[in-house]
Amino acid sequence: MFKLPDLPYDYDALEPVISAETMEFHHDKHHGKYVETTNKLLLEAGERPAALESVVKGAETSPEKIKLFDNAAQAWNHAFFWQCMSADGSGPTGELADAIGRSFGEPARLKEEFVREGSGHFGSGWVWLAAQNLDLKIFATHDADDPLTRQGMVPLLVCDLWEHAYYLDHQNDREGFLAGWFDNLANWDFAAEQFQAAQGRRAPWRHPAPA
Ligand code: MN
Repeated sequence: MFKLPDLPYDYDALEPVISAETMEFHHDKHHGKYVETTNKLLLEAGERPAALESVVKGAETSPEKIKLFDNAAQAWNHAFFWQCMSADGSGPTGELADAIGRSFGEPARLKEEFVREGSGHFGSGWVWLAAQNLDLKIFATHDADDPLTRQGMVPLLVCDLWEHAYYLDHQNDREGFLAGWFDNLANWDFAAEQFQAAQGRRAPWRHPAPA
């Protein structure tokens, strides 16, 4: 059984961009429900997987496993999303900053494109910064979809575009939420580790194994 991972910080650590109230609902209720449903579906199917990554990849190509895919991918995406935030306010440095320069020209263009892609995305989903070797890309995915199933693509950062992620704090202003998120909460130390993984120099982040 997969366990709902604890947040790597307090509920109020990301205020004012994300309130403690949003974090409590988002982590305990929304994320918790995805984990609970994933476990229930695996139990019903008599499956005991060794890793959540293999559940997501295995269910993605099976039309009869769409409910399992949606819940397992949402469980993975949320656990990853919590890692992508930090209140320390640093920016990209070193080789990641160099790669941003090569792919986007200047840091301000990266933010512009990230906010534009996320605010322009129709409906629920996620906006990602990902690396394919040294090349950085920004794209959005619908609903539970994520880059795990895309060959050679390693996610560096993600922001949740579902209304439950921002509506209590920003109402319909998704663009304002994304701009505040990018300026104040993006965890560049974590992104730098994932960028090393994209180059094969370390393992990428993995969801905690089932107990
Ligand atoms: Mn969410």
